[in-house]
Amino acid sequence: MNTHVSCRPVRTTCPYCGVGCGVLATPTADGGLAIKGDPDHPANFGRLCVKGMALGETVGPAGRLLSPRVSGRQVEWNEALDLVARRFSEAIEKHGPDAVAFYVSGQLLTEDYYVANKLMKGFIGSANIDTNSRLCMASSVAGHRRAFGSDTVPGRYEDLEEADCVVLVGSNLAWCHPVLFQRLARAREVQGTKVIVIDPRRTATCEIADLHLRVRPGADAAIFNLLLAEAERRGLTANASVDGMEEALTTARQTDAAMTGLSADELDRFIDLWCASDKVVTVYSQGINQSDSGTDKVNTILNCHMATGRIGRPGMGPFSVTGQPNAMGGREVGGLANMLACHLDIDDPVHRQAVQQFWNSPRMPHAPGLKAVDMFRAVEDGQIKALWIICTNPAMSMPDADRVARAIAGCDFVVVSDIMARTDTTRLADVLLPATGWGEKDGTVTNSERRISRQRPTLVPVGQARHDWRILSEVAQRMGWHDAFSWSHPSEIFGEYAALSGVAGQLGSDFDISDCATINRSDYDSMTPFIWPRAGTRQGKRFFGEGTYHTPTGRGRMVPVVPRLPQPATTDVAFQLNTGRVRDHWHSMTRTGASPRLSRHSAEPCLEIHPSDAESLGLSPASLARVSTPRGEVVLRILTTDCVAPGQPFAPIHWSDQTASSGRVNGLTPAMVDHLSGQPALKSTNVSITAFEAKWYGYAVSRHSIDPNCEYWVAARLAGGYQAELAGLSVPLDWTEAGQRLFGIDRKPIIVRDDKRGTIRLAFVEEDRLIAALFVSADPVAVSRSHLADSLLKDIDATLLAGRPAADRQDEGATICACTGIGINRLIAAITTQKLLTVDEVGEALGAGANCGSCRPEIKALMLRLLTDA
Ligand code: SF4
Repeated sequence: MNTHVSCRPVRTTCPYCGVGCGVLATPTADGGLAIKGDPDHPANFGRLCVKGMALGETVGPAGRLLSPRVSGRQVEWNEALDLVARRFSEAIEKHGPDAVAFYVSGQLLTEDYYVANKLMKGFIGSANIDTNSRLCMASSVAGHRRAFGSDTVPGRYEDLEEADCVVLVGSNLAWCHPVLFQRLARAREVQGTKVIVIDPRRTATCEIADLHLRVRPGADAAIFNLLLAEAERRGLTANASVDGMEEALTTARQTDAAMTGLSADELDRFIDLWCASDKVVTVYSQGINQSDSGTDKVNTILNCHMATGRIGRPGMGPFSVTGQPNAMGGREVGGLANMLACHLDIDDPVHRQAVQQFWNSPRMPHAPGLKAVDMFRAVEDGQIKALWIICTNPAMSMPDADRVARAIAGCDFVVVSDIMARTDTTRLADVLLPATGWGEKDGTVTNSERRISRQRPTLVPVGQARHDWRILSEVAQRMGWHDAFSWSHPSEIFGEYAALSGVAGQLGSDFDISDCATINRSDYDSMTPFIWPRAGTRQGKRFFGEGTYHTPTGRGRMVPVVPRLPQPATTDVAFQLNTGRVRDHWHSMTRTGASPRLSRHSAEPCLEIHPSDAESLGLSPASLARVSTPRGEVVLRILTTDCVAPGQPFAPIHWSDQTASSGRVNGLTPAMVDHLSGQPALKSTNVSITAFEAKWYGYAVSRHSIDPNCEYWVAARLAGGYQAELAGLSVPLDWTEAGQRLFGIDRKPIIVRDDKRGTIRLAFVEEDRLIAALFVSADPVAVSRSHLADSLLKDIDATLLAGRPAADRQDEGATICACTGIGINRLIAAITTQKLLTVDEVGEALGAGANCGSCRPEIKALMLRLLTDA
């Protein structure tokens, strides 16, 4: 059980996506947290998506790393910290400062980030600190800096509500930024905002689209070039505050519309809507950034807004939304290898000197450090002798992940700070340091609209976990820099950071929060969310509306871009794999995987594939397929859908070696990067697909954890237990023995065998309660997962081994509304029998979609399908 810091509701911030919703976390008697949206937080005004709502289910001590470990041995903190400081110092002394590296995370708090950056850049004297945000938004950073002279996100969430037209490009906002999506959907309902989605996939976001452009993968830059050229023809490009207009226009005019894969009519409708809307916002995300030409794509979007002056005023502008809760904070604080703190430039000697002077530090690097992909290459090459990975899981999330894992395994000295004991990366560490997690951490984060909010502790850290800023400071002190790292509370770090931003502001940086430099602990504790720059500070609240950019001339820079498509699939490799998130999981699932509620929507990684592709490959729905590249292979469940185009399958990114036998999709992706931003192209991998010739399929539920020993498995949490999807390439000789081993149970099961259908069903029962059950079939197992999951919570009944409820009871089917547990079958029955016509009516009748709203696009899509089929 957890111990609470306070018994009252605590105002804090969600740790998942870049929307940065405010959360009210109230301790419960059982040591958990009751979660509500904070009605006073300007990012969400009380709304939360399903991931936020389920936060209370993810804070338990199960699986946490509770104490420091050296080579697997539990040790005292002092021993571990002494060792880390000594090994880093030795590596620096022997091989120079560039022989060490930190790989950190967009989930660190700003104070953690500040300390890591100060230690590496100011005291170790290397810029070898990079972050997993490199995988998320580095192309936006590079595009902003080219165009604006600074990494400034000019947009704010209210712009989406004030716009006449919102373009969502490379962004499945409905699933990846759900509360922002709900704000947009509401604005559309109220004032008829036009919504355009540009995406090769038909995602949940398309449910509110007036126009969906199924662009050819990677052709986004061509669309915005065509828009720019046409905007000029219509006399909209008269912005005097930019340079490079003519060069950008000349290139744009030469763009071949055929490259987009769109019809002339589709392009005309897009351009007409965009040009007719003075207030237009273009939201973009990983679909733009995660590309080998991501920076160029970003600049084509910025070009259109800058050329037409649709920037820096209410309801308009380009808007990069970040995937992680503190990707923006990391950018501000200098967490990227090619930036200094407070948006200062590492290539500028004046900036370097100013920061060094402020830190009173012994040295500063003279050049950018290694970006993520290059960093792990340097680890592989043996250039990096000591590596510290903090709050991230690169052995699973980096492209060419197996190679990265091998590189980490071969490094002389690897430290991993994490909240979890077992991840794909912790198993490779020499030293493991237990860090505090959400609910325990204390600091600030910046969301996608530049809003700084507090994450406040509600729980006492489990075991011996310590805050990341403290762990870093204690190592820095042991390395000889005691005074510079002697904070006793994060408010002191924040104050120092704010003071440094004042120095940056004097040098022309946009990031200046120096009015917080004298903040005391009490003010820090009571800080309310604010957008920088604050009202009343010298820069006012909006950027670039008056055309004052952060370039030496003060003018914006348009960038000519020749659009480039990703390498096409060849005849040998017929499929270009797209990757992304599912609705209810987050990154490598170390937290969301702990929530039974969140596991109900997507309990298994599926390969979404067009029915024609599946047919040509001989893959039936729900069968299994091997997806492979020269780098690796995954096995995924087949989900046929025309939401993806032929040749463009899609797979989710969340499954690791801890949750699946072979679901680590980034084992497939190449380490190919945008040459300007260093961001990997994770969304267009040439893959081969073949059938996984399973001899049997299985589905298991158990009150206790399941220990699969077969070629394919995916494990997930349930309320009251666990479940696993299974399959094997050879049939066990004795299913009783196989079941006993799977569940770690000695007793004999009840067995029902149907040789005609080729099914075997085993139930392990104790005093009329189900302990575990295994359903085996020669074909994909057709039982009601929701019914069996519920069976763990009830007395056993005759329906158990039938695998579905009695005839008089509804089989929920696949879960749609995770808040209520309502499945697709109940929704279909209610919509058709009660003749429900709107999502709100479904909410009133069943409660589905009426709580967090994350499932509303799926309910709407279902209603449309039923209407079409009727
Ligand atoms: Fe968290 Fe959901 Fe809000 Fe994102 S939209 S911050 S995941 S509650």
